[in-house]
Amino acid sequence: MNGAVTRTRALARSGRLYPAVILHGATEEARRAAALEIARTLLCERETPAERPCLECRHCRRIAWPGDGEERFHPDFLLLVRDLKTSTSAEATRDWLRAAQVASFEARGQVFVVAAAETLSAEAGDALLKAIEEPGLGNPRHFLLLAPSRLDLAPTLRSRSLAVFLGPAEAPDPDRIARLAEEIGAGVDRLAAGGGALFLLDLAGRLAAEGDWSDPRAEGGWTLAASAVRAAALAPERPPEARRRLLALAEALLVAAPWRLRGISAERILEGLVSRHLAPLAARPIDTPRRSR
Ligand SMILES: [Zn+2]
Repeated sequence: MNGAVTRTRALARSGRLYPAVILHGATEEARRAAALEIARTLLCERETPAERPCLECRHCRRIAWPGDGEERFHPDFLLLVRDLKTSTSAEATRDWLRAAQVASFEARGQVFVVAAAETLSAEAGDALLKAIEEPGLGNPRHFLLLAPSRLDLAPTLRSRSLAVFLGPAEAPDPDRIARLAEEIGAGVDRLAAGGGALFLLDLAGRLAAEGDWSDPRAEGGWTLAASAVRAAALAPERPPEARRRLLALAEALLVAAPWRLRGISAERILEGLVSRHLAPLAARPIDTPRRSR
């Protein structure tokens, strides 16, 4: 199972899951499968949390997407699915949220799933936000918001949710990652051997040249850069300090996408992150590099 889903399931088992979770990235099928797994974990009736979801109890068995074989229905598993290729309207959202004003029927809590959260109109998003913030009636309520990217959701919703990235829609080509990782490794070695700021700019430039940055909300370029930096870190010949700094850079790259929405170019973000994390590896101290304007 996807590592992100495993970690989220662990939070659900221990009762520490955020009330609102954004499941984003990967494919629509993967997002739906992750939502089912988490909903079953939250509502399964097994006493021992580690055994949830059991997939056998009266709750687990009835939690399903409509159209998945026989019609199954659970009154505490509430789905908001878009009918047409239009935005999910405020009216439909409010109707659907009415169930949040009553206690759960059978299970220990309720799970609300928005199947295509990227289609929520601004007003629908506000209605949802209000429901997330309202205290429940004693039984836990969970909201799972599914979208291709977390950046498809309003900032107010994002700030109140745990974003779980399920992986890129298409896995980056392993040959491309390996080639880029080798270039990064060579660049880091040159830096440690006495190279200066220009080597940092060169490294950032290589990462920038590989990614597709046309859509500011797309995560693909960041995933590719992070995968390559991680592979460079884990190369057996890499010294421990370089490995540590490269792994930190890979982590930072995975959460860099929102900067694009503030109008900062991918090149500038990459230069900033590469400098911050890798400048200490240089043989002699260097200032943060600046491009001539
Ligand atoms: Zn169960």
